[in-house]
Amino acid sequence: MQSEIEFIVSEYTSYNISDDTMTLWLRAVFENGMNHKETLNYTQSMLHSGVTLDFSHLNGYVMDKHSTGGVGDKVSLILGPILAACDCYVPMLAGRGLEHTGGTIDKLESIPGYQTSLGVPEFQKIVEDIGISIMSQTKDICPADQKIYSLRDITETVSSFPLICGSIMSKKIAEGIQELVMDIKVGNGAFMHTLSKAKELGDLLRRVGEYYGIHVSTCYTNMDQPLGETAGLWCEVMESIKCLQGDGAHDIMKVVFHLGEKALCSAGISDPVRTMQSVIEDGSALERFKKMVKAHGGSLDSLKDSEMNKPLFSQKVQAKTNGYISYMDTLRLGSAIVQLGGGRLQKREKLDPTAGIIFYKKTGDFVNKDESFLEYFCSNKDKIERCKLYFMEIIDINSTKPEPLELIYT
Ligand code: URA
Repeated sequence: MQSEIEFIVSEYTSYNISDDTMTLWLRAVFENGMNHKETLNYTQSMLHSGVTLDFSHLNGYVMDKHSTGGVGDKVSLILGPILAACDCYVPMLAGRGLEHTGGTIDKLESIPGYQTSLGVPEFQKIVEDIGISIMSQTKDICPADQKIYSLRDITETVSSFPLICGSIMSKKIAEGIQELVMDIKVGNGAFMHTLSKAKELGDLLRRVGEYYGIHVSTCYTNMDQPLGETAGLWCEVMESIKCLQGDGAHDIMKVVFHLGEKALCSAGISDPVRTMQSVIEDGSALERFKKMVKAHGGSLDSLKDSEMNKPLFSQKVQAKTNGYISYMDTLRLGSAIVQLGGGRLQKREKLDPTAGIIFYKKTGDFVNKDESFLEYFCSNKDKIERCKLYFMEIIDINSTKPEPLELIYT
């Protein structure tokens, strides 16, 4: 007999339940949680809303990585092509922005022409030919998550373990992978603010993955400040290319190598860090990224065009005193990007690909009075004006140097 959970998920996916009614159900789950059996049932209902892929005929390890969401977290765009260049297959179903966190799909859609909603045969062929394809849930693969995900984004129902688990694991199981590396973000810009909460979620994701025969490696990484040098849409694509050219910021590359090492160890690749460094140095990881962009209909010329997605307006923010950056309110930095047009306040809102922030200084860096510590940009003058005082409030500058942030938790 169909369970109540299966009924709700399938009826909402078939447009027989309204957004308002579904929101009430999501809020109830958000408030009351689900037990393990219900979480499995929810995940299964999400998975069975579409098809499951099979890559078992391929002569290579089939794997993926996924993040619980952060600000400036562009790891998928860098690590995916690296893993493909290391002869692994990466069929990656990713998401759009959720609340204040950025989404891989929104970032990829800032590349002119890039299609994120391909048919199953096209997706499979790109994975087989190039080793990697990144796209979103579609009407054929995890359509329930496609619908529920965008509703959760605007109804403050994201931060719920069963809803996160159903959303992530249904996509990952549908991909037909053998190995999943989960990057569970912890900190003031993550959905999990403490390591103990993050570990609770990690254990849940691992148990559900293993029930479906997927080996899940869990990593816990810091989100008390944005990752890398930029956060936004096009600016993150550009930064990812820089990383693939061997010029990535220390923090982002440390996370990339940490997750990649776990994935490649499971695939039985010896000396994984050296192998990853070599595919960056010889250009093959960047080549995979470009081939994937082309296969998805994206313009490779746009990746070289310095005028592409150039914001019409930008504003630098200067320090009022000398001192160290002592605290970054990462959630509010992510919300600022949403306000600038890089995320949604309404369902299906069209995003501004030029929206974003460059961080000239991060936590622990010294800044002189009147020196710019960040620059924000987009193509709407009013939005730039509205954010003017905001950044002063959400970044603290202090005369005492703060303790260094721990980037990777064990
Ligand atoms: N990533 C997802 O795919 N879903 C969530 O709910 C959170 C992060």
